[in-house]
Amino acid sequence: MNRVEGILSGIASRMAAAWFVLLATTAVALLALYDGALPALAVISAWLIVCAAAIAAIRPRLAAEEESVPDSLETVLAFDFGDLPGLLDEIDLAIYLLAPDGTVLFQNRSASDTFGKFPLGSHISARMRAPGVLDIIRDTLANGRVNQIEYSERLPSERVYLVRSAPVSDAEKPVFMLVLRDVSEARRIDRMRSDFVANASHELRTPLASLRGYIETLQGPAKHDVKAQERFLPIMLDQATRMSRLVDDLMSLSRLEAKAHLPPDQTVTLNALLGHVRDSLLPLAEDLEVSIHLFMPEEPVTVNGDKDELVEVFENLIENACKYGSEGGKVEVYLKPLSPSGAEVSVVDHGPGIPSEHVPRLTERFYRVSVADSRSKKGTGLGLAIVKHILTRHRARLSVKSEVGQGTTFTVRF
Ligand code: ADP
Repeated sequence: MNRVEGILSGIASRMAAAWFVLLATTAVALLALYDGALPALAVISAWLIVCAAAIAAIRPRLAAEEESVPDSLETVLAFDFGDLPGLLDEIDLAIYLLAPDGTVLFQNRSASDTFGKFPLGSHISARMRAPGVLDIIRDTLANGRVNQIEYSERLPSERVYLVRSAPVSDAEKPVFMLVLRDVSEARRIDRMRSDFVANASHELRTPLASLRGYIETLQGPAKHDVKAQERFLPIMLDQATRMSRLVDDLMSLSRLEAKAHLPPDQTVTLNALLGHVRDSLLPLAEDLEVSIHLFMPEEPVTVNGDKDELVEVFENLIENACKYGSEGGKVEVYLKPLSPSGAEVSVVDHGPGIPSEHVPRLTERFYRVSVADSRSKKGTGLGLAIVKHILTRHRARLSVKSEVGQGTTFTVRF
């Protein structure tokens, strides 16, 4: 039905409802003619009669056409979905039920939460504009085929959906289902995994290639060259050590991932643990000419945790502070109990600091502000990723505050 016909239909139904007015107008017109009264009145009345006649002629056709529209909002009202809406509301996928003409008959709660409330009876193309999605819907409506595609939205945030269209009911009253499954998180994890494998392989390949080069030289041209052997062997040991550090860190990460869901079950006294970490790092700190100062309360501060893992956390943070903040000459570690329970440990250095754009990414695997700087300091780029994993298992938080030229503070809150 086009717009003009729609308007006419509206007028027709109103006029039909007021048929007695028309009748009265006609009577007045006839009387006016008979009396030879105002011709204008006669003309108006005649015009009304013509209109009424024309509309009366059109109306049955319009009504017939309306009845022949197969599935529109009327279907929504006529179709008995029974318990289906309640059931579909409980499903954590965005679901739309469509009539054969593409009209939306029903949307579940997840659909309205994700994509906003949508007026029932409107065509699905008012909601889904992506051509690929509309194509599969059209094909399902026309041919009853099950279709599936992946569809991504960039705004308001990047999301990826698996969209499936399928017929769901009998031939007599066909209904179609459009289901959107949000797979953004799964895609993100897939991408992270493949990036991780690529990064880990790259990190291992570099020292491996260098080792291989030295071995070939020592087997060939430098076979009897004692001086070359003396020069190359320490470098080879260095590369082998770097590889084993990397493998240790990778193993550590995978162990942590395996037990991520198990909460730690020991009681750890942080005062003693931090003292132990400081002692173990003294040789490194001396090499770097950095002094480590502990500021701790007299009374023991305890948390629920895994001792070995917490040693790893503070070794990483204090070692980083010594390595990357060595310019400042000192590293301070503050332990504070938190009321009613918990504790806070801050590791402060006075080094060059970290530019703010890097701070949110520091705990990503293999993320380094400067790869060359990290390598020269025997870094693997996995230290803070391990710290974050351990702290997540401990339900603790890591925060980083840094000012370029002033230094950096890493704070752990239990
Ligand atoms: P790495 O093995 O390279 O030290 P980490 O995951 O421990 O890896 O740290 C990631 C990066 O964060 C480091 O390469 C370094 O660029 C930066 N970083 C960490 N701690 C500090 C710090 N205290 N001061 C400045 N930069 C730091």
